[in-house]
Amino acid sequence: MKHITTCVAILLFTLTGNATVTHAADAPGTTRVAQWKGDKACAFILMFDDSCISDVKTVVPELTKRQLTGTFYVNPGSGHYAAQRKAWEQEIPAAGFELANHTFTHRGGDTTADIAKEVTACNDAIHAATPNLPWPRLVSYGQPGGIKPERWPITKEQLADVLKENHLIDRPDFGGRGAMIAFKTSDQMLAHVDKAIAGHAMECIVFHGVGGDWIVTPTEVFTGLLDGLVARRDKVWITGHIPAHQYATERDAATVRVAVDDKSIIGVMLTTTADPQFYDQPLTLVTRVPADWKTCTVTQGETHGTVAARDGVITYDAMPSGKPIVIAKK
Ligand SMILES: [Zn+2]
Repeated sequence: MKHITTCVAILLFTLTGNATVTHAADAPGTTRVAQWKGDKACAFILMFDDSCISDVKTVVPELTKRQLTGTFYVNPGSGHYAAQRKAWEQEIPAAGFELANHTFTHRGGDTTADIAKEVTACNDAIHAATPNLPWPRLVSYGQPGGIKPERWPITKEQLADVLKENHLIDRPDFGGRGAMIAFKTSDQMLAHVDKAIAGHAMECIVFHGVGGDWIVTPTEVFTGLLDGLVARRDKVWITGHIPAHQYATERDAATVRVAVDDKSIIGVMLTTTADPQFYDQPLTLVTRVPADWKTCTVTQGETHGTVAARDGVITYDAMPSGKPIVIAKK
């Protein structure tokens, strides 16, 4: 134990002393930040607009059955939201689904101030429905469609300011991503997933009604997509918009430094320049270890885990906090 403590102290000195050790690609210690959590090939997000009744009746049960998740763009000032208020304000957030901002009523307004209020009132409702989550935090924003221009009197720049003030992150464009608009069958939707896998991308499909309501995706088309996603689970990180956005932002601003001590300990330091108040997700690291390290311990601060090596590498999650990560043979 004393030996390990000494080694760690030396490693920390090396890391904090800015003396990065560089390695050949196959040398023990060589570390990369995975493109997506769990070193999956892509991130994929199921998005559901308008707080439809069928979200509560069909979507949530079908997702839950398969341990999948989704992001729900709600209109807390709408009648169909009010009809399922308990589900939206208690059951769905308590089950871990992400609530996102689709404006308060989906009806726009007469003035720029009205539009700002549509956005902030929706955020207030999301905050109230998630009292156990930190606030302020990042919330996904989905622009409501089908509003006449005279009911949306705000410039792009003014809206960008409102989104920024409310820590809202605009989702990808609806165009090319709408269920029953861009894709009509499960196979077409799964081809979109396979394209994301091939491109190592973040992608999404936006749904309205499923088995009812409007722009209706037939239930069997929806469940066909879900079953296809389950079959691709080893390649696809199925998540919400904000976790995917946080991961990508932290990853793109991350730096990894590595020091190897006499091949008995590997020290890794992971940092990111993303603001830790809003970007607090762990990143997945992939580190090469010596061939005889079949099982490793990975320690970062108070967090301690055991990871099996596969093909000479270990894959593990770590916070990009600058707290040293110590890997040792178990
Ligand atoms: Zn909508």
